[in-house]
Amino acid sequence: MFEKILIANRGEIALRIQRACREMGIKTVAVHSEADADAKYVKLADESVCIGPAPSSQSYLHVPSIISAAEVTDSEAIHPGYGFLSENADFAERVEQSGFVFIGPRPETIRLMGDKVSAKDAMKASGVPCVPGSDGATPEDGDEIIRIAKDIGYPIIIKAAGGGGGRGMRVVHTEAALLNAVSMTKNEAQTAFGNPVVYLEKYLENPRHIEIQVLADEHGNAAFLGERDCSMQRRHQKVLEEAPAPGLDPKLRDKIGERCAEACRKIGYRGAGTFEFLYENGEFFFIEMNTRVQVEHPVTELITGIDIVQEQIRIAAGQKLSFRQKDVQLRGHSIECRINAEDPYTFVPSPGRITVYHVPGGPGIRVDSHVYQNYVVPQYYDSMVGKLIAYGATRDQAIARMKTALSEMVIEGIKTNVPLHQDLMLDAAFVKGGTSIHYLEQKLAAAKKGQ
Ligand code: ADP
Repeated sequence: MFEKILIANRGEIALRIQRACREMGIKTVAVHSEADADAKYVKLADESVCIGPAPSSQSYLHVPSIISAAEVTDSEAIHPGYGFLSENADFAERVEQSGFVFIGPRPETIRLMGDKVSAKDAMKASGVPCVPGSDGATPEDGDEIIRIAKDIGYPIIIKAAGGGGGRGMRVVHTEAALLNAVSMTKNEAQTAFGNPVVYLEKYLENPRHIEIQVLADEHGNAAFLGERDCSMQRRHQKVLEEAPAPGLDPKLRDKIGERCAEACRKIGYRGAGTFEFLYENGEFFFIEMNTRVQVEHPVTELITGIDIVQEQIRIAAGQKLSFRQKDVQLRGHSIECRINAEDPYTFVPSPGRITVYHVPGGPGIRVDSHVYQNYVVPQYYDSMVGKLIAYGATRDQAIARMKTALSEMVIEGIKTNVPLHQDLMLDAAFVKGGTSIHYLEQKLAAAKKGQ
């Protein structure tokens, strides 16, 4: 096992990884920007290195600074967390070339899955069902694009091969709008991701977002840890997640989960990963794979009892999975609310000093957060300040516990989306379970109209 790991991230996930390391007796190195110098988790780490000024491009995304921090601290491995460099194949390669272990898949795998066109090809070849669409990138010829779109049928979603974070997508309803939309999406994709390649997919009108968590080691073992429902989204970004997905037939879960585990074995996947699907009318359609730990991993940990971050570390150290598929038993229900520093109604970010902070507790409550009273939420990064996670023997109990926890939670000095989550816990459609990816936007639009 490693003696020292460098954590190339910030915020709650930096603390989450640090906790996993401490439990395993591994020393940690925190790297931080000037804006995060006073963060508690930086002080809690065994060592810390300032890697640059506040803007991510000069710190958390600045590869040479991170590599030299690993060198000066004698770290053996680098955990990238999520976001930042976690899905950057060139970074993973640089880490390995510099003699460190990258806690994640091999660079080739990250590259394969990072391009959504090649990812879909690989999935199709492994027998994972995909959203019907163009086989590969859109061609140059306009008539050809029109013909492909006609075959798929409208509405169609144009997606950037290099897209991420809910950006680089455009829906078209008519042939007349198609070619213009393709060229606009290409231009945007070039600017945002440095890759103009786009592809077409059938736009599913009322799907749910259901994803499968996998873990795979270097010895050919792969297992799936059930699914998560992440349909509660705003602007294609997840707001609340839960596991298991309400009402999903366990036989269907096992079937799609086994396909994902098999795909991991076929492509020689290593580490933790998530297969994201849209689910409509009892069918799963693959959209993309995330080759890293996800924000919503705790809901899976709570219903399986498996520590996903510790497994990532063990796998990176060359060990075998600590369990087998038959040991994975899903028990109870878990819900996660992402707590963001933002206005709960306009969603405008609300950085600043937290003047009063009180976290809830009690049976089945987990809070993953790096913030505390007097902490200043910097303006430079993602607005998420923490995750409130509830576990219950049943979904009803998880909701009841989440309601209590939200009512106990006090964060003053900044605005947060706690009121939105409180509202959702009382929402009849959410309580029933199984809402589509459009539900939250529709609810918010209706509330705006009603004002
Ligand atoms: P990103 O990498 O930016 O997260 P994804 O491919 O995972 O992009 O898609 C993000 C979200 O966009 C999905 O959860 C879903 O809400 C929506 N979406 C993507 N593809 C489709 C599709 N074919 N039909 C309907 N919605 C889609």
